[in-house]
Amino acid sequence: MDQTPHVALLPSPAMGHLIPLVEFAKQLLHHHHISSTLIIPTTGPPPQSQISVLESLPKNINHVFLPPVNLPKNLTNAESQMFITVSLSIPSLRDTLKLLTSINRLVALFVDPFGLDAFDVAEEIGVAPYIFFPSPAMALLFCLHLPKLDKMFTCEYRDLPEPLKLPGCVPVHGRDLPDPVQDRSHVAYKKLLENVSRMTSSEGIIINSFLDLEEGAIKALQVEEPGKPPIYPIGPLIQIGSSDGSDRLDCLKWLDDQPSQSVLFVSFGSGGTLSHDQINELALGLEMSGQKFLWVARSPSDKSDAAFFDAHGQTDPLGFLPKGFLERTEGQGLVVSFWAPQIEVLRHSSTGGFLTHCGWNSTLESVVHGVPLIAWPLYAEQKMNALMLNEGLNVALKPKANEVGIVEREEIARVVKELMEGEGGKKVREKMKDLQDVAGIVLNKDGSSANSLSKLAFRWKN
Ligand code: UDP
Repeated sequence: MDQTPHVALLPSPAMGHLIPLVEFAKQLLHHHHISSTLIIPTTGPPPQSQISVLESLPKNINHVFLPPVNLPKNLTNAESQMFITVSLSIPSLRDTLKLLTSINRLVALFVDPFGLDAFDVAEEIGVAPYIFFPSPAMALLFCLHLPKLDKMFTCEYRDLPEPLKLPGCVPVHGRDLPDPVQDRSHVAYKKLLENVSRMTSSEGIIINSFLDLEEGAIKALQVEEPGKPPIYPIGPLIQIGSSDGSDRLDCLKWLDDQPSQSVLFVSFGSGGTLSHDQINELALGLEMSGQKFLWVARSPSDKSDAAFFDAHGQTDPLGFLPKGFLERTEGQGLVVSFWAPQIEVLRHSSTGGFLTHCGWNSTLESVVHGVPLIAWPLYAEQKMNALMLNEGLNVALKPKANEVGIVEREEIARVVKELMEGEGGKKVREKMKDLQDVAGIVLNKDGSSANSLSKLAFRWKN
C-alpha cells in the first residue's frame, strides 16, 4: 500500500462548498504532498459546473460521485436538502471509504457542517473525522455557542430584545442569524443543533478565513477548553479561474473596453434570486445611478435561493427585465443571464465595485482582489456576513430596505453612486485594499494560514 497520507473530502451538494474544498485539496497536495479523494453525494446527474471543476484537477486529487439518492418531496429549504442528501448517502459512502482504506493510507475524513452524519462511518472504519467549515469564523463561533443559546432562550431568536454578543465579534441581532435558526420548530434547526453538538467530537476544524480578517472570532475560537477541537484558519482559499482566457467570454471582452475601476459587478452567488418587484427596482436603480454595471440576472422568484442547486445549468431569457431597460442602458451596462466567470470579473481592472449577496466565497474572492462591496444578503448566514463586512470591517456599504423588505430604486442609485464616486466609497475601497495586502501574504511561506496548514499536515506525517 502507498504510504503517502491520503484524505477523503465529503462536500455537501453545493458549489459554494465544493470550490473551497477543492482548493484545500490543492494546497495539501502542492505544499505537503498529501493526496485526496473528493466524494460527492448526488441527487441526480451532477451539474456541468461541478464536472468542469473536478475534471480540471491535478493527478492525485481524485473524485467519485456517489449514486443519486431520492430526496423526500417535503424538503422546503436548501439546508434540509443538504443534510438529508448526505444522510441518505451514508451506505454508499461507507463502501467508498472501505475501498479507499484498502488502497491508501487514509488519515482523515473531512466533512462540511451538513455532513456530520458521516462521522459514524469514520468511527466504524477507524478514520479520523475533521470538519471543513466553508463559512466565516464568526459563523463557526455561533454554531459552537448554539447548544448553550438553545438552553438559555425559549423564544425565537429574532424576538430577542438585545443583539447577541459573541466574543470578539460585532453584536448581531437575532433576525440576522443564519437561516436554519430562524424557525426553531423546523427540521433544519433540529438537525443543525444535532450536528453542532457533534462538532466537538472532531479531531480538528478547518476554517476558510484568516487571522487578520476575523481576529476577534478566531482568537475566541482558539482559546483552549477541554473537549474543544483545535481550530485551523487556512484561508483565503478561492478558486483561481473559471475560464482559461482562450475563450474570453463576451462579458470579459465588454469589460476590456471600459475605463479602469468604472464598473459595478452585480451578482447573487450560485443560487440567489430576487422577487419580480425587487428586480424591477434594481434595474431602475442601476439605470438611475448613471454608473456602469455588469449584472448577472436570473428569472424572478419569491424564494431567495431558488437557483441554489442549478448553478451554471441554465440560461434565462431576459424578458423579465423592465420594458425598454436593455435598450436604454446600452453602453452603460451589460446584463448576463444566470452565470458569469466571477473570478475573472473580480480580477479585471475595469471592475471597481461588487454588489454581492455576501456568500463567503464571493466575500473572500473580493478581499483577494481588493474589490469594495455593496452588501445585499439573501440566505444562509449572509445577513451575519453583511453585518461583519459593513459594521465590523468597513469594507461594504449597505442599502436600506423599505418596510416591506424591498430596496427601492432611489436607495439603490444612492448607494451605487456612493460606492463608485462618493467619500463613503473611497473609505471602504481603502479598507479593502489594506485587507487585500494582508490576504496576499498569509498563504505565503511563514504566513499565518500557511503555518496553520503545516501544523495540520504534520499530524499525519508522523
Ligand atoms: N460564481 C461564479 N459565477 C456566478 C455565480 C457564482 O463563478 O455567476 C461562483 C463564485 O465565484 C463563488 C461561488 O460561485 O466561488 C459562489 O459561492 P458563495 O459562497 O459566494 O455563494 P453561494 O452560491 O454558496 O451562496
